[in-house]
Amino acid sequence: MQNQVSHTAEKLDIKSLREEFPILRQKVNGYPLAYFDNAATTQKPARVIDALSTYYLEYNANIHRGIHTLAEKATKAFENTRKSVQQFINAPESEEIIFTRGTTESINLVAATYGRMMLEKGDEIIISGLEHHSNIVPWQLLAGEKQATIRVIPVQEDGSLDLNAYAQLLSGKTKIVAVNHASNSLGTINPVRQIIKKAHDAGAVVMIDGAQAGAHIPIDVKSLDCDFYTSSAHKFYGPTGAGFLYGRRELLEKMPPYMGGGEMIKDVSFSGTTYNDIPYKFEAGTPNIADVVAMNEAISFINQYGKEHMAAYENELLAYAVERTQNLSGFRAVGTASEKVSILSFLIDGIHSYDIGQMLDARGVAVRTGHHCTQPLMDHFGIEGTVRASLAVYNTKEEIDQFAEGLERVIKFMK
Ligand code: PMP
Repeated sequence: MQNQVSHTAEKLDIKSLREEFPILRQKVNGYPLAYFDNAATTQKPARVIDALSTYYLEYNANIHRGIHTLAEKATKAFENTRKSVQQFINAPESEEIIFTRGTTESINLVAATYGRMMLEKGDEIIISGLEHHSNIVPWQLLAGEKQATIRVIPVQEDGSLDLNAYAQLLSGKTKIVAVNHASNSLGTINPVRQIIKKAHDAGAVVMIDGAQAGAHIPIDVKSLDCDFYTSSAHKFYGPTGAGFLYGRRELLEKMPPYMGGGEMIKDVSFSGTTYNDIPYKFEAGTPNIADVVAMNEAISFINQYGKEHMAAYENELLAYAVERTQNLSGFRAVGTASEKVSILSFLIDGIHSYDIGQMLDARGVAVRTGHHCTQPLMDHFGIEGTVRASLAVYNTKEEIDQFAEGLERVIKFMK
């Protein structure tokens, strides 16, 4: 297995891949930019940026109802992305792909439609202690409205979920299980296949927050037997403001619409309205056409290099980052699960994470500090936040050296 992994990483030509990202050529504070804030948002290859300007320069038009040439071209490009997303996550049908603004909107959509339709007083929703606020608060809103209860899968010391405790939480009252595929704060990859299987055995449906999986983990909703899955394009080399929700056809067909407006209807009269078929039933109003069109180029970028190869290379980078930092004075990694995406969250004893972030920035290294929108997780570890270096496929070992040397200087200066 180990050999196989390093072999696949060798297949990538990182130098030419990196050249696709014009933004990475700049210097920040006199140093080459080392962009390690990829879990917040990735940089975009030129082909994504070009797709945006080509759309506006050459075929900007509203989609679906136009018969003129530009409208047909725009509609085709928009619908092509739907087919690409279908293949990207191996969904059975392209009609099961709904375009949204991203993960946050998708989770809110499921909570407000499926959740509102299914939940009754006393029912339970299971989430995990690793969740981003966007996979907590929509469920709290729903639970408050329905007098339902939220149960939380506990997190273990290494940042993995306690699956025995999960099995204990499941019961006939469980209606929805919502967990992330990978944690944005710690990088933990969750055993979603097992989580889904157990939920289904208990009669619950599962929503997977794949915000951090889009760029790093091959996704196969069919093989996972997943009910709902979401991700945001900006986390997988695509533009901001666009993402997708996958939903199983029979669930989507049963669900009420999320928003009312144009596009989501078949017929409107003052005596009543009939709704459009899926996916359009959930796409009221003019969508974010340009960004959806450009999302297709992000998928083509990932497909060209191969997500498995990218992940293998990122694993090597993460291992190198761990090797370069673990013996630094006072260094403490937060989240050391065996299965991780390329995220290194850490603290250095006696130095505030904000100071570390600022001093790294002074040397061109972009990291994120704070609670990473996972306050309950930080509370669990009894900390305010961490420094997070989140790596992507265009990062290099030289940049990790720059980061490690920066940390050495921080320690020397602050201690
Ligand atoms: N879930 C996870 C695990 C995330 O990392 C993020 C983004 N940090 C979100 C949800 C929310 O994604 P978005 O802001 O793109 O809606």
